[in-house]
Amino acid sequence: DVRLRGKRACITGSARGIGLGIAETFLQEGAYVALLDYRADELVQTAERLREAARERGSDVEVATVVCDLSVPAQVEQAAEAVWRTWGGIDLLVNNAGIAQREAFVDIPLARWEKIIDVNLNATFQLSQWMARGMIAEGIPGAIVNMASKNGLAGSAVLAHYNASKGGVVLLTQSMAVDLAPHGIRVNAVAPGFIDTPLDRELKEQATGTLQLTARTPMGRLGSIQEVANAFLFLASDEASYITGTTLVVDGGHLANACDL
Ligand code: NAD
Repeated sequence: DVRLRGKRACITGSARGIGLGIAETFLQEGAYVALLDYRADELVQTAERLREAARERGSDVEVATVVCDLSVPAQVEQAAEAVWRTWGGIDLLVNNAGIAQREAFVDIPLARWEKIIDVNLNATFQLSQWMARGMIAEGIPGAIVNMASKNGLAGSAVLAHYNASKGGVVLLTQSMAVDLAPHGIRVNAVAPGFIDTPLDRELKEQATGTLQLTARTPMGRLGSIQEVANAFLFLASDEASYITGTTLVVDGGHLANACDL
């Protein structure tokens, strides 16, 4: 049996990468999914592919799309309203969209610091607040799952803005969980390690020399998109009904190995 039957989900950054994997997984589990992204063309193509796959399975789930640049607060507000209107409410919100850039701390331009905080942290706050207000008003026992990173739980070179944004997501998740628990809304996060995705490949291309991404990962390999999507599914589903405020690490043991020489 499916685990998200009839749940209405909004997933940000879902035109490609991990967000797309989460969308596919949620749809297979019976959820209706609103894809939100700023890559308009990719979004349309992705939605069409997902609808086609659902039809082939004989499933009647729906796929909606919203074009939105999450770094622009006015667009976030409009997108939230549009998604809510689509099915008259949202049960599940996944704040997955994120950006990163490798550059030394002393070289980070203020504009890029702001952009990364805007997309990774501020949009997560704004969209979550909008949806939580709606869930509370309608008495919806919703769940929110945020995309953190192992980089939100420990530091690293040349990603100070990214790491700070993801550390913010971890603490925002805990704090929202406490404020929203009395309303029956659960809030959790997922902290992936190195996952094989387009963003990851872009970062690898930016890195100078050979980056041994897997050298300190005890499991000795990159994670797959499906392995991250599985964690989102679990935290969004009723199987996690007593779990709120937690950050689930999906990193092949990378953080557990932090003291390795
Ligand atoms: P990706 O670049 O493949 O996907 C990110 C998606 O977010 C894209 O579809 C992109 O268009 C969208 N997006 C970016 N900026 C946006 C904006 N301003 N408005 C709307 N949409 C926007 O990256 P990914 O690897 O799938 O990463 C997804 C999330 O997972 C990110 O938050 C990332 O930080 C996190 N993460 C990734 C890894 C990894 O190894 N790939 C590890 C840990 C955490």
